[in-house]
Amino acid sequence: MSSYWLDSIKEKKNFDKIDNDYECDVCIIGGGLTGLSCGYYLSKLGLKVIIVEKDTIGEKASGNTTGKITYQHNLIYDYLIKSYGENYAKAYLHANKEAISNIKTIIDTENIDCDFEYHSNYVYTTNQDEVTKINAEIQALHSLGEDCEFVTSCPLPFKIAGGLVNKSQAQFNSVKYMMGLANSITNNNSLIFCNSTASDFEKNENGYTTFVNNYKVKSSYVIVASHYPFKKLSRILFYKNVSIYILYNSV
Ligand SMILES: Cc1cc2nc3c(=O)[nH]c(=O)nc-3n(C[C@H](O)[C@H](O)[C@H](O)COP(=O)(O)OP(=O)(O)OC[C@H]3O[C@@H](n4cnc5c(N)ncnc54)[C@H](O)[C@@H]3O)c2cc1C
Repeated sequence: MSSYWLDSIKEKKNFDKIDNDYECDVCIIGGGLTGLSCGYYLSKLGLKVIIVEKDTIGEKASGNTTGKITYQHNLIYDYLIKSYGENYAKAYLHANKEAISNIKTIIDTENIDCDFEYHSNYVYTTNQDEVTKINAEIQALHSLGEDCEFVTSCPLPFKIAGGLVNKSQAQFNSVKYMMGLANSITNNNSLIFCNSTASDFEKNENGYTTFVNNYKVKSSYVIVASHYPFKKLSRILFYKNVSIYILYNSV
């Protein structure tokens, strides 16, 4: 089954397979939201970027998201304050709020038609016993200086026991957004290759060599944006979704 976002793209942009050895400032492994967002900012700074994607741009996790751009992720703030303290929770909140405005800035600057809309975000329960958790989250948000309200109904066709609503959150078509990022990247002296799998990279005197299909990409820096690590890196544990969440929500 394909996602609504992927189905909504009538003409998919195709990028060639890598066909040669290349040199660049930054080689990015993975063409999802993380890789394309990094590529966008770096190519805008004037760096030559090469993105290598093993399949097609944006068709993995990033093309299958819910498409919401919010700072409310379940009941996160009560948990963060209790587990790591108020400053930590504030940093998380601000990074995510900044992400929403940064995405909007990119959309406006690059004129990306990706169905971006501001909407309220609801977290609700149909279970009366869980309403205390909702209230604790509201208190946590208020203690961080954030506005949010308790509600007893939301725009869903069934009754809820209670919920919270945050205004000024957003949604978009992530695939259309990624196509816009890809356009900007290739317009800024940078390249994207699809069907091009990085099998390894190694550090040398002048930077890095990344092995892609049967070719080499030499670069000063490498960014691994492959969602799951594709090679063993010393001192790095298998960190699954964590790095991705930080990047997606803070660019
Ligand atoms: C069902 C679902 C709903 C979600 N909803 C939301 C949401 O509403 N809002 C939100 O903020 N987040 C949401 N997320 C999380 C968000 O989708 C991910 O955090 C984000 O898309 C990850 O992007 P990524 O670029 O890191 O990974 P991916 O999109 O998976 O991109 C990684 C890319 O790397 C490529 N790759 C892998 N190995 C190699 C290699 N060796 N060589 C070359 N390329 C390689 C892959 O083919 C892939 O294209 C959701 C996630 C899921 C699963």
